Amino acid sequence: MKLDLLVIAVHPDDAELGCAGTILSLVAQGKKVGIVDLTRGELGTRGTPEIRLQEADAAARILGLSARENMGFRDGFFRNDEEHQKALMVAIRRYKPDIVITNAIYDRHPDHGRASELVVDACFYSGLRQIKTVDNLGADATGLEQESWRPKLVYHLIQDRYIKPDFIVDITDFYEKKQESLLAYKSQFYDPKSNEPMSYIASQEFMEFLRARAEEFGHVIGVKYGEGFTVDRTIGVKNLFDLK
Ligand SMILES: [Zn+2]
Repeated sequence: MKLDLLVIAVHPDDAELGCAGTILSLVAQGKKVGIVDLTRGELGTRGTPEIRLQEADAAARILGLSARENMGFRDGFFRNDEEHQKALMVAIRRYKPDIVITNAIYDRHPDHGRASELVVDACFYSGLRQIKTVDNLGADATGLEQESWRPKLVYHLIQDRYIKPDFIVDITDFYEKKQESLLAYKSQFYDPKSNEPMSYIASQEFMEFLRARAEEFGHVIGVKYGEGFTVDRTIGVKNLFDLK
């Protein structure tokens, strides 16, 4: 199945935190969107890998995703090397996305910057036909040799640490539903009834911070809520009036 947009991020919930509003907006326009989680987030303070997979499935339904895969890389210890690049190329070549969104170029969590480099490299090498791959990913594996495919553009999330965005997407109409997708991760975020240990992202302050960040990004483009992105190369637009 060909997708328009594939979000490839290291921890289940990175995609929702960084760009659920953008995903919801594109799905509402009829675009096909998928998420590839690189790890099961097994080093997270709260929850278990099994619970987080169920939560990711629940969030996928809220977002209206066409596909969601988990690469099963090791949280914290995956590397940007040939083995991981080739594994990821299988997903990129299967879904043939025009656009890829991945982790922040650097962040508080060192996995984010490393995942960002891995995804950028895998997107490039995926376009080289001399690198052979076979579709062996998950239950839908065909076992067939794959064609090369290079996404046209790779955008980066802005996650915990502030990075000046290169562009901002208006997500005003989708902020409440974004929040709903985050709350699907019951083990991870603020829940006054939880008996799990407190973590950085499980506090009420963290949810308030997320809203404040979305308001700040929305404010600078004259809307209520926004999601910011960075891009490695200069982007262009056909119609000046598409910009706001
Ligand atoms: Zn993360």
